[in-house]
Amino acid sequence: IVILGIETSCDETSAAVLVNGTDLRSHIISSQIVTHQRYGGVVPEIASREHSLHIQPVVQEALDSAKVSFSDLSAIAVTYGPGLVGSLLVGVSGAKAMAYAAGIPLIGINHLEGHIYANFLHNPDLEFPFLALLVSGGHTHLIFFEAHGQYQVLGHTRDDAAGEALDKVARTLGLGYPGGPQIQKVALDGDAQAFKFPRAMLEKDSLDFSFSGMKSAVLNTLNSARMRGETLNVPDLAASFQQAVVDVLVWKALRAIDQTGAKTLVLAGGVAANSLLRETLNKELSERSVRFVYPPPLFCTDNGAMIAITGYYHYLAGDFSPWTLNAVPGLGLV
Ligand code: ATP
Ligand code: MG
Ligand code: FE
Repeated sequence: IVILGIETSCDETSAAVLVNGTDLRSHIISSQIVTHQRYGGVVPEIASREHSLHIQPVVQEALDSAKVSFSDLSAIAVTYGPGLVGSLLVGVSGAKAMAYAAGIPLIGINHLEGHIYANFLHNPDLEFPFLALLVSGGHTHLIFFEAHGQYQVLGHTRDDAAGEALDKVARTLGLGYPGGPQIQKVALDGDAQAFKFPRAMLEKDSLDFSFSGMKSAVLNTLNSARMRGETLNVPDLAASFQQAVVDVLVWKALRAIDQTGAKTLVLAGGVAANSLLRETLNKELSERSVRFVYPPPLFCTDNGAMIAITGYYHYLAGDFSPWTLNAVPGLGLV
């Protein structure tokens, strides 16, 4: 079974060829980070234009380096949501055209499921049930997975996503875009105890998150220092905020493990690349004998391989999409 996976939901044009669910024959990621950096964030109009320029060469390069042609493919899997509508449309229309021309099935993939399924690439033995902590640029979810495609959302953010909060704080600190990796880098030279930022835990048993107030606490600290004519130590601010975000994520994940009795925690999404988060979870989970699974950093942020592997499991289930498949920018997890 040979699956071509295509991802264009935000600012990465990516394609991958995956054979039998484990053999990643090629993986091409064309990132627009440099293009959007000067604006401090993704500009949707520019993103979709860039995708239309890159989708065909990126797909061709993925096929070429995998040494396959369209006639070797079993199906084409593509992200149809959530994401930026113009970006998603480029991927969906491109995949439709290619699959139709090649006479093979089209498989629409939920980008959030894709982030979680990225874990099956390097851990094909991953067993259900498991608890997933999805921490990305736009989402922060705790999800209990019972089987393929069968899951329950236990908690989610009520305002900002963890990645979004890191990006906004980074921008205010003048660290540039994307902010998460910058915060991680700068925090290495900072003291995580220097500033006491709040940890929003919400109601006693809640598995929801709230990062907006935590983000505002950093901005308020900066503004009042500015009014006093003081300058604050940026590495200390970055380290203290990163610590606060990680503390909340780890605390909520442990609470969800207690509530569900889950024996495995799966980490996913761009923020899953964060080394403090990985190290802290690794320590806490090994103390509790809970298996901890997470993707290599390249497979945490947006990539085509995660779409290909999700497509592979849909293919096995005979779960294909109609030619009327459309982009759904606000697609969630049911
Ligand atoms: P979504 O998947 O929710 O639609 P997205 O696709 O934009 O959003 P991802 O690509 O999953 O998000 O992740 C990007 C986010 O991950 C950004 O907020 C970025 O700052 C964050 N991120 C990436 N690397 C790191 C890191 N090492 N530490 C912390 N955050 C990181
Ligand atoms: Mg991106
Ligand atoms: Fe993503």
